[in-house]
Amino acid sequence: MQHTADVVIIGSGIGGSSLACSLAESGLKVIILERGGHLKDSAEARDDVAIFQRGFYRPGEEWLGTDGESFLANNYYYVGGNSKFFGAVMYRYRKEDFEARPHLDGKSPGWPCTYEELEPWYERAEKVFRVRGALGQDPTEPFHSKPYAYPAVPDEAPIASVRDRLKRAGVHPASLPLAIDIEAWLHRAKTGWDAFPNTGVGKIDAEVGPLTEALRHPNVTLITGANVSRLETDETGTRVTAAVFVKEGFEQRISAGMFAVATGAVQTAALLLRSANKAHPTGLANSSDQVGRNFMNHNTSAMLVLDYRRNASVYQKTIAFNDFYNADNDYRAPLGNVQLLGHITGNILKANFPAPAPSWLVRLIARHAYGWFLTSEDLPNPESRVMVREDRIVVNWIRSNMRAHQALIKKTKDVMRKAGFPVVLTHTFGRKTTSHQCGTARLGHDPKTSVVDLNCRSHDVENLYIADASVLPTSAAVNPALTIAALAIKAGASIRGV
Ligand SMILES: Cc1cc2nc3c(=O)[nH]c(=O)nc-3n(C[C@H](O)[C@H](O)[C@H](O)COP(=O)(O)OP(=O)(O)OC[C@H]3O[C@@H](n4cnc5c(N)ncnc54)[C@H](O)[C@@H]3O)c2cc1C
Repeated sequence: MQHTADVVIIGSGIGGSSLACSLAESGLKVIILERGGHLKDSAEARDDVAIFQRGFYRPGEEWLGTDGESFLANNYYYVGGNSKFFGAVMYRYRKEDFEARPHLDGKSPGWPCTYEELEPWYERAEKVFRVRGALGQDPTEPFHSKPYAYPAVPDEAPIASVRDRLKRAGVHPASLPLAIDIEAWLHRAKTGWDAFPNTGVGKIDAEVGPLTEALRHPNVTLITGANVSRLETDETGTRVTAAVFVKEGFEQRISAGMFAVATGAVQTAALLLRSANKAHPTGLANSSDQVGRNFMNHNTSAMLVLDYRRNASVYQKTIAFNDFYNADNDYRAPLGNVQLLGHITGNILKANFPAPAPSWLVRLIARHAYGWFLTSEDLPNPESRVMVREDRIVVNWIRSNMRAHQALIKKTKDVMRKAGFPVVLTHTFGRKTTSHQCGTARLGHDPKTSVVDLNCRSHDVENLYIADASVLPTSAAVNPALTIAALAIKAGASIRGV
């Protein structure tokens, strides 16, 4: 079967859906090709045993690590992509993240634009994702041209108390910016949302936010179950002519004036590499040889702090602190962000417990625990890369800057002890947790060292855009989704010619 469109977007995650939303009012015929289907509601959607212990939603796809071992990708292939499971934290990168600066184990190259240049696009992205937040609490918060349109999600009583204790310990806890409609989320069931699938409208994920808005327009169509295998170009290689995809076992083709790849940082690199042809022998849009390189993923740890009192919260995830985000007093280097995880239940803890333990003990610990998520910047390195070998995805993540992460753990432990939490346990996530993947098709001014320009348009192929986490030139140390959305909305304006 043959299809045609003005713009074909591949992938309906944060990037693809934000781009579709940005194009919807233009009247252009937009077709979104999405590999997955709609995530359906069922009892498992709020069942912490099914999700965390049985891996009910985990895809079966395996990638190859550099140790030669296969591992289960923690990528989710549904309409809305990984955001269906996300923690809904919608941070802006900090102003300093756009500047080149030294880190404990290297240097961040910064961005080819300033924070101020991206600020209007952040503002639009926050509107699309109906982000709730509060300004004036976090000293690292960059300039906002407008306040958040919705007030911050309220702290539950135990979290309000943790906030006070942290203040007394000398840090600046601030409300997390969140894409959550808390009443709608709790109406379905009284659970946290971090890593839980969104089968309703409680989380403003890519499907609930920008995709739904885009699909209100008759010129935008979504085709699900459409797995794109390659892009084809004309003989000169300057224009993509078709996307080839498999749906229900049949290969189909779609032609269009413009194509945008938004399949996530690993899959986007793989798709471009698999689309190598005579005009692009090392992969589509890869004259710079940067496609697949500079793979970054954040250095992250879970920190469990135990309290004498019971933690009676339901969702918990409303505060964070960035006191060690920029040049820290002791280490004189950026260390990272500290934010609450969703409420840790006994079943969630059991799924991650380092050794076999009786359920009653795990439940007891969970009742007194607050889980935190510590994130430090991973620095770009061309040798850290995604490759395709005999049609299999290989992820060779060379993690960097771990000294900064260890320093963040140490500083955070000190804060927690000062705040009166006597027991602090940490678990650092391994190389196979790729939730914050980015960097494999970096943006930049120079076609020799970057894949796309500042509008996310390929330097090599005139009708090709890349609109997902792969274009991020640095990982910073805050969650990536809002920055991906801001860049995709900006890419949409470029396609519209405004
Ligand atoms: C558990 C979890 C919690 C997270 N929490 C947060 C958070 O709180 N805040 C935050 O900012 N970030 C968070 N993240 C990260 C965030 O979800 C991602 O950064 C973001 O979703 C990436 O968006 P994307 O558009 O780059 O790609 P994706 O979300 O991966 O979307 C890509 C889409 O393309 C589709 N696709 C892939 N290959 C093909 C193909 N060949 N053909 C057609 N379609 C294809 C996929 O099915 C998917 O829908 C979290 C991630 C996870 C897993």
